[in-house]
Amino acid sequence: MKKEIICLQCPLACRMTVELTESGEILSVSGNSCPRGEEYAEQEIKQPLRILTTTVRVLSKDIEHPRLPVRTQGLIPKVLLKKCMKTLASVEVRPPVRVGDVVLENILSTGVDVISTAEVLE
Ligand code: SF4
Repeated sequence: MKKEIICLQCPLACRMTVELTESGEILSVSGNSCPRGEEYAEQEIKQPLRILTTTVRVLSKDIEHPRLPVRTQGLIPKVLLKKCMKTLASVEVRPPVRVGDVVLENILSTGVDVISTAEVLE
């Protein structure tokens, strides 16, 4: 069985083909321009990881579009993205918030915090 994946390790975004056994073992990786692609392919097959970016509600009457851009501070399992979005849908922050402030600690026990990527002053 063959699987097409795009390496997200650098802006080159190599298109790779991963050949797998019936049981999901990697037989070969091709299309990568450097060894990092192979590592990425292994991770992607075993447990895909992603950075989550989204927004949370800001509790302020003075702001026209009261949403704060946030992201996970590190990679989280791709399978948890939807659950994380649901969790963050109920998160509200009060200004002032600065870039890098922790909006939610240890989301879904992943060990990864969600941080602000923008500033909202009072
Ligand atoms: S395989 Fe190497 S060169 Fe290609 S996208 Fe991944 S890191 Fe970049």
